[in-house]
Amino acid sequence: MPIDRMIEKAYELVQKKRIERVGDGVYNVVGEHGTYLVAQRTDGTFSCTCPGFLKRGGCSHLLAVLLLHNPALLRSVKRYVSGAWNRKSKRKKPIELNV
Ligand SMILES: [Zn+2]
Repeated sequence: MPIDRMIEKAYELVQKKRIERVGDGVYNVVGEHGTYLVAQRTDGTFSCTCPGFLKRGGCSHLLAVLLLHNPALLRSVKRYVSGAWNRKSKRKKPIELNV
């Protein structure tokens, strides 16, 4: 998944309140393809149980938990995401063919 798409998805998870704190540094994140457990390790880093994290070491669930922890980061992401949305809506419509 491209990083900007991952950021958008993470922001969406926060906005839709898909993150539930289940314990100390442990969160249930309801993603599109299932519910995953994001947990903070003793060294402060986070891990996730989804296949994407296992493969790449990063995912939107983990990012969403980080955003939840960091309101300043969430604000910058909000600006970034709304900018991306604006760019999309300004995009020209595909040319219609009159056949
Ligand atoms: Zn994940």
